[in-house]
This record gives sequence, C-alpha cells and structure tokens, in this order.
Amino acid sequence: MADTHIEADIAIIGGGGAGIAAAIEAGDDGAKITLIEQAETLGGTAAISGGGCLIVGTPLQESQGIHDTPDLAFEDWVKWGQGAADEQWARFYIDHSLHDLYFWAEKLGAKWMDLKFQEGNRVFRWHRPQNNGLGLMTALINAAKSKGTTRIMTGTAAEKILTENGRVCGVRATNGKSGETTEIHSRTLIVATGGFNSNLDMVLEARPEFKAFKVMEGSGRGATGWGHKLIRELGGYFTHMNHIWFYVYATPDYRDPQARRGLVFRLTPGYIWVNQQGRRFHDESRTGGASATPALLAQNPPHAWAILDTPMTAKMEVADPYYRDGDKVRRDKVQELLDNSPYIRKADTLSELAKKIEVDVSTFLSEVERYNKAFDAGLEREPAFGKSLKQSKKFDTPPYYAIQLFPLARKNFGGVKTDLRCRVLDKYFEPIPGLYAAGEVAGMAGGHINGKAGLEGTMLGPSIFSGRVAGGWAAHEAGFGPGFVGKPNRPG
Ligand SMILES: Cc1cc2nc3c(=O)[nH]c(=O)nc-3n(C[C@H](O)[C@H](O)[C@H](O)COP(=O)(O)OP(=O)(O)OC[C@H]3O[C@@H](n4cnc5c(N)ncnc54)[C@H](O)[C@@H]3O)c2cc1C
Repeated sequence: MADTHIEADIAIIGGGGAGIAAAIEAGDDGAKITLIEQAETLGGTAAISGGGCLIVGTPLQESQGIHDTPDLAFEDWVKWGQGAADEQWARFYIDHSLHDLYFWAEKLGAKWMDLKFQEGNRVFRWHRPQNNGLGLMTALINAAKSKGTTRIMTGTAAEKILTENGRVCGVRATNGKSGETTEIHSRTLIVATGGFNSNLDMVLEARPEFKAFKVMEGSGRGATGWGHKLIRELGGYFTHMNHIWFYVYATPDYRDPQARRGLVFRLTPGYIWVNQQGRRFHDESRTGGASATPALLAQNPPHAWAILDTPMTAKMEVADPYYRDGDKVRRDKVQELLDNSPYIRKADTLSELAKKIEVDVSTFLSEVERYNKAFDAGLEREPAFGKSLKQSKKFDTPPYYAIQLFPLARKNFGGVKTDLRCRVLDKYFEPIPGLYAAGEVAGMAGGHINGKAGLEGTMLGPSIFSGRVAGGWAAHEAGFGPGFVGKPNRPG
C-alpha cells in the first residue's frame, strides 16, 4: 500500500527535455498532469547540455545567408546515419523543427543566439540557445510551471508502472528523502527518463566488446536507464541499443571515487593525440563521434594521450559544472585537475613526458618534431593528417602535459520503439495501451531517429519535439485535445 494516492489525467516520469515539453503540450490541451523527477531539481541532462538543436530553415540561418531546406537536411541526416536512421521520424522532426521547436521555444521565452558548423551537415544548422541547455530548459520549465496544469514532484523516483486489465494506469514512486511512497493513478503515462549512459553496466551490456577496456560514463547523472527497466517489464520492444554515441576527448573524473565518470574537454587548440605506441593517428581538430571516435577505437588499446604545452592548457575548457562559472571557465579548477589527476602526467621535457606515459620515446619525439617543423616551414596544415594550424602553436613551453583519453558513452541512439504518436510498441509492434515514451529513452525519438551517427543537435531537438508529440497524444487518449498537430515546414 502506498502512503499517498494522487489522481491525474497524465503521469510523466522525468523532468528533462522530453518530460517538460510533454507537460507543456498536454497542459495546453487542458489535461491535469503529475510529473515526477528523481533529482531535486528539474532539467535533467537537457539542462547541462550544450543546448544545440538541429533546426532547418530558420530566420537565424537566413540572416547569415544560409538557405536550408528540409529536403537538404533529410539527405544529410539519412546519409550520416549510415542506413540505420528511422527515416519516418527523421522526416517528421526535420519538417517540424522550424515551427514546432524554433518558434515554439522562442514564444516560451528561449532565445536562439548563434549557429555552429557540425560534421556531416552541408550547412550550418546547429542552433545554440542563450545560456545553452540551461537557458533553453529554464524557459521551458518556467512555461510548464506558469500554466498551473502540472503538479511537480521532485526528489521522487518512479519504481513501478501500474497496470490494470492490460492497461497502464499509473506509476508508483518513492521520495528519496522521506521514503514516502506515492501511487499516481492516471489515464496515460509518459516515460521520459533519458538514456542509460550513466550506467556503465548497461553500456557494457549493449557493447560487450568494451569489457576488456576502459570506457566511461558520460551522460547526466539521472541517465541510469531506470525507465528502460520499467518499460522492459511491460514488454516494450527495444531497438538499436548498441548504437551508443561515444566521444573520445574525455579523461576520467578523478574526483569520482570509482573514476567511472568522464570529464570532457573538447578541441583544445593545438593539442595533439598520441596512441600507446607514441604515434599520432588523427586530425585532432575533427572531434566528432563519426570521425575521432572510430579513429581512437581503431587503436590498440583504444585510448590515447592528449599532449599540451603550458600555453595550450590556458585554452582548455572542461565541460562540467565544477569547472565552470556559467559561461566562464574556472582556470583555478582546470589547474587543480592538471595538478592532481592521476590520469594526467606533467614533465619539464618532452622525453621525460614520453617516459612518464610509457610510450616509445624516439617515436614520440619524432612525432612532435614533425609537427613543430610544420610551423617552422610556415605551413597552413601539418602534413601527417592535414590538420589546420591556424589556431595552433608549436610545442615549446614547458611544463608539458599528457592527459589520458578514454571513450566516453555520451548519447543513446537506440531505445524503446514507438510509433509516430510516441506510443510504446511491443515485440509485435502493437501499442502497449496507455504507455508513451519520448526523448533519449526512445533513442531520442521513435527508437532510433539518428541511426549510427548524429548530425549533432539531433538529440536534444528530437527529445523535446517527441516530448511534445507524446504530450499531445497522451492527452488525446486521456480525453483532451486533438492529439499533436503542429505545423510542418513545407512549400505552398
Ligand atoms: C554534457 C552533454 C551535452 C549535451 N549537449 C547536447 C547538445 O548540445 N545538443 C544535443 O542535441 N544533445 C546534447 N546532449 C544530449 C541531450 O542533452 C539529451 O539527449 C537530452 O537531454 C535527452 O532528453 P530527455 O528528456 O530524454 O532526458 P533528460 O534530459 O536526461 O531527462 C530525463 C530525466 O528523467 C529523470 N529520471 C530518470 N529516471 C527517473 C525515475 N526512475 N524517476 C523519476 N525521474 C527519473 C532524470 O533524473 C532526468 O531529469 C548532451 C548530453 C550531454 C551529457
């Protein structure tokens, strides 16, 4: 017996990108919602994310002379996904991204600031909101709260999905502090619990080949795969679970007692990477999951050392709240990391550094010398991998640093299969009555919207969008509104 019982039209598990969007949408339709979030605050991984969303045909693009169309974006998307993207969901998202994400979020108070190029796209379409993921999520959370249609219970984790006569009818949850249990009885339920990349056991289950090597957890703290477990118990069909988007510019967080979590420091201008044989193996300016990741995974063992001299460390940015003060990097904390991490070595000479990281000294020295010579010769690109030297410099200022890099599981491109209404499907591809899923638990949307690789901005965008779709249809099934309608960006 639960301590408390709550009646709602819709229950939502998870208060991140998808869950909050679902609450806004269902609230607009007049439904009464109860949303539970295990963390003490709302926002999930979405709030610590870069906030970038792939959006097509926007005024921001036009203002920079970029003419983009859904057809062009769809071609890039499908090609980049290497045949594994859910094309129907990809098209659905791309077509709706202008009106149902860009303008919609703007209306709720978000502001789209600038565009960034991302690998695989023929044009700039990665839109960054003001104050990144936190800015976007703050606007959405405020909107959800101001409607007054959603009862929000933070610090409350879902434990079991309730069913009656083969239909989902709510969820049982426990408050982490008081231990009090609550049963929320609802007509429909949306699972929006995010991915599983902060659960190393699940990562290794999906990718057993990594059991022999070190890989790290790299999603938000709440991305533990709990929602996957709840849906699996009801017979939901999971697909493309081995499609995990790994990044390779991360070093273990030595402050994490188990060193399971990774700290990301992407693209430090000038640094080079060497493998355990002391050789460079890649153009380090190409850091994407479809370029750098396969290059690192092809090394034996699949890890590397990032080599920096002292001025380069001044440009190092660690993507973790401990190392940042809002948009600003905390240099004192970065130096603390450089001085204290057992995964970072420091030396006054390059040969000393090579010995400390146990690579072949002469191979390592000749790699650095070849790189340095490119500057002496005034080259625009270094000859080995064609890396542009525009932002880079010679290795000439000790102390030198070597930072150990291991693959980091960042984003789940596979998850529970849903239809275009976000209804969870079973192994016969039939909806489980009353059950919806959106966001990363559903591989960002539908099960596998990205495929094997993502164009970037294709995680948060589809998570928020599918949240809206789930909210609309869950409300409809509960007796409110017409279902998600939206407005596709089509000619005529
Ligand atoms: C550092 C980082 C940067 C990123 N940057 C980008 C980017 O710039 N662009 C992009 O497209 N993608 C980015 N992503 C990915 C993107 O943030 C996620 O894919 C997206 O937030 C997923 O949204 P979601 O709502 O499904 O999950 P989340 O935002 O993670 O929300 C899920 C919520 O569910 C809660 N929850 C889980 N289990 C339970 C339970 N049992 N009971 C109650 N609550 C529960 C969690 O605590 C969490 O708050 C980034 C990811 C990371 C880690």
